[in-house]
Amino acid sequence: MDDNRYTKINEFPQIIQQLRTSFSEQLTKPIEYRKSQIHQLYKLVHENEEPIIQALVKDLSKPKSEILTGELFVIKQEITEIVNNLDEWVKPEKVTLPLSLRMGTSYIRKEPKGTVLIIAPWNYPILLALSPLIGAIAAGCTVVCKPSEAVPHCANLLGELFPKYLDQNAYRLVQGGPAEMTKLLEHRFDHIFYTGSSTIGKVIMTAAAKHLTSVTLELGGKSPAIVLKDTDISITAKRIIWAKIYNCGQTCIAPDYIICERSVQSALIEALTKALSEMLGTEIQTNTSYARIINQRHFDRIQALVKGTKGRIVVGGDTDRSDLYIAPTVVADVPKGDTLMESEIFGPILPILVVDNIDEAIEFVNSGEVPLAFYPFSSNNNTIEYILDRVQSGGVCINDCLMHGAVPTIPFGGKGNSGMGSYHGKKSFDTFSHERSVLKTPFYIEKALSVRYPPYTDSKMQL
Ligand code: NAD
Repeated sequence: MDDNRYTKINEFPQIIQQLRTSFSEQLTKPIEYRKSQIHQLYKLVHENEEPIIQALVKDLSKPKSEILTGELFVIKQEITEIVNNLDEWVKPEKVTLPLSLRMGTSYIRKEPKGTVLIIAPWNYPILLALSPLIGAIAAGCTVVCKPSEAVPHCANLLGELFPKYLDQNAYRLVQGGPAEMTKLLEHRFDHIFYTGSSTIGKVIMTAAAKHLTSVTLELGGKSPAIVLKDTDISITAKRIIWAKIYNCGQTCIAPDYIICERSVQSALIEALTKALSEMLGTEIQTNTSYARIINQRHFDRIQALVKGTKGRIVVGGDTDRSDLYIAPTVVADVPKGDTLMESEIFGPILPILVVDNIDEAIEFVNSGEVPLAFYPFSSNNNTIEYILDRVQSGGVCINDCLMHGAVPTIPFGGKGNSGMGSYHGKKSFDTFSHERSVLKTPFYIEKALSVRYPPYTDSKMQL
């Protein structure tokens, strides 16, 4: 696909200026305006389900069911959560004052940060462009939104739909690759919300630092599933393999690898094999319930990881580069320093590492970067708490995978290498809002305040 669809770099100053003018003229501040634009966003999604599905099929061969559940439903749920609560969230927050200041009043104003930039990745291209946008609109910001160039059909569709549904004086979609992004990031924004790899996350944060712009970084990492011998192996296997094949493993919170107690591995492999065959059958390449790798670059990257492994391939292993197909592949007895353990896999390969006990599993997880998600599987609540106390992660889903990312009432975000800041529901509103502290001092208490003014006499200091 050619680059003609990219926004011209020399258009950026005018676009940003327009958004700044709209912001300073208060266009996006009235709550009714915000709600009406979020309603428009709902219509954008609802009235264009078929074109959205077509674009996602062209870009990622996404199964329809995964589009409806993993993209569209989550957007609509986020809209409902935010619209239903916005009136409450925008209210100034009353605070109590210490005795010495009690004659004044104090509160926290919820103010929009200003003109913000949202940068989206390709793996959930509609959801991850629009979900933060809902929060930014709710907070009263004006927005530049940049979808990933790796999904041209989705990016083009959003480019067509934005002007049809959203106020172009307030919300603009721009397109481009690294060259355009480098230029765009030279401009000052009031917040940058970035979803993507940790490597580019550092580029974004460096660019933001030049203007001391705040950032939210939604990054990735190797999210482990710890499987203990007291778990229900059959259900555990089903939940893990489903999360690994969903969007062909290209999910930021996909379980990257399993770490299990030695005695569990063979039963787990059997259960994973059974669960996979129940879900996708034996002719997986022709099964429309299974997506594809985004492009040949990622295909080659994942294939190289598998080629280098010292583990045993016990399930899958087939590939077809011309079709960007990689079969769901389980690799057993993976050594700790294996190629599959070097970086986030971001594909349908599931390595299994074995350990002698829980503490060894904890030690291994802690030897790497803090993961975005963490999946402990055990029937014992005390064991789960023991592990949670000792292993850090952005979020946790106990005895299941992925689903914590679909709960609009809990924050979603990473820690350390997996990101900073969070969003979803109220947290999205907070992320794009500035908490402005206000203290109001009445004139009539001036006499009581006289002690604070010089001259600092001894008698004043005794009060
Ligand atoms: P990416 O970092 O390559 O690209 C993301 C965005 O950054 C794209 O819009 C791209 O155009 C832009 N970009 C690329 N190069 C740039 C540059 N030099 N300067 C500025 N912007 C640039 O990430 P990706 O490959 O699209 O996504 C995969 C990664 O994202 C994985 O690591 C995954 O775990 C992570 N991810 C995280 C979340 C989350 O919510 N935490 C969600 C989805 C994906």
